[in-house]
Amino acid sequence: MSHSKHTRRGHSLYIEKWDRSAKKYIHTCKLCGFTGYSPVLALPQYENSVIRRELMQMMPELALDEQGRCAQCAAAMNRYDNTHTGGVT
Ligand SMILES: [Zn+2]
Repeated sequence: MSHSKHTRRGHSLYIEKWDRSAKKYIHTCKLCGFTGYSPVLALPQYENSVIRRELMQMMPELALDEQGRCAQCAAAMNRYDNTHTGGVT
């Protein structure tokens, strides 16, 4: 079972080897550090893209808002805001 660690390491090295442009398709949430591929890869022009195929195998889709937060963190922050404004309108 010592091979699993090796495989994971190989994967990350593989990413490092990629063209730098691949990295812009990898999203990382600023708050929780969750990593996923950019939803733009679902667009038809990426259909035959190796980057898309590899990223989709390795990670889930991750949409980030304009502040770099995943949906879960954005929802948690919104809940926090609502709590603190306490229904003040
Ligand atoms: Zn997050």
